[in-house]
Amino acid sequence: MSEFDGRVALVTGASRGIGRAIAFELARRGAFVGLNFAARRDSAEEVLAAIEAAGGSGTLVAFDVADHDAAAAAVAGFVATQGRIDILVNNAGITRDGLVLRYREADWQRTVEVNLGGVFHCARAVLRPMMKARYGRIVNLSSVTARIGGAGQVAYAATKAGIEGFTRALAREVASRGVTVNAVAPGFIRTEMTAGLAEETLAAFLAAVPVGRVGEPEDVARAVAFLASEGAGYVTGHVLAVDGGMAG
Ligand code: NAP
Repeated sequence: MSEFDGRVALVTGASRGIGRAIAFELARRGAFVGLNFAARRDSAEEVLAAIEAAGGSGTLVAFDVADHDAAAAAVAGFVATQGRIDILVNNAGITRDGLVLRYREADWQRTVEVNLGGVFHCARAVLRPMMKARYGRIVNLSSVTARIGGAGQVAYAATKAGIEGFTRALAREVASRGVTVNAVAPGFIRTEMTAGLAEETLAAFLAAVPVGRVGEPEDVARAVAFLASEGAGYVTGHVLAVDGGMAG
């Protein structure tokens, strides 16, 4: 018997990076995992094939988290088909960096819609079935940037700080119904999102990481799996840093 046997999870942005590792970890521990993606069906199919090859199970759930109606319909369809939803991991996110004076309104809007809107849309879509079942685990992906900022990252930092506020507020709303709401705040993790960084930026980041190495997606996935577990039922409204000590 595995820890998440019989549990149904939905992971947004599961086609690569941290979302892929989270989906893999939950499936490895026995959950049936809905793998959300917006653009890269091939990558999502590859993740599902890898999960199945390792003995896990899941399905693809395509939708743009920024689109309220599409998210509501797709999540409702997934929950109806699986008959339940125990775990939601709001992982999908984007960065559109740029200094404020030259920042485009369209980039601001899209970052807010995907990062913050996506969390709201997906959380709202799972709340009724979770509250009815008197059980649920919602884990949102914040970032170390919410606490320490980052030049050229005002939109990203604002959305991640917003996610932390959202997490604390929703936790209070649904705590009495057996639903916990927490966040993880990763530091510098090796994914496509960080692959384009210049050598000197990377060196500066690493100098600020007491653990002395770049984080791996699996480091984040293990923290998410803890917050998504039944045993974490007395932890809610918490933001767990997974940053090698970076934010101190
Ligand atoms: P990534 O490699 O860029 O992957 C992003 C994922 O989000 C992809 O699966 C992508 O799927 C999906 N996605 C993007 N827009 C979407 C949308 N509108 N609707 C649905 N899915 C969408 O990113 P990552 O590095 O793994 O980051 C994952 C999360 O961790 C993000 O919330 C990020 O802010 C956070 N984080 C990352 C780091 C880091 O160092 N990497 C640090 C702190 C926090 P498609 O391309 O198929 O649409």
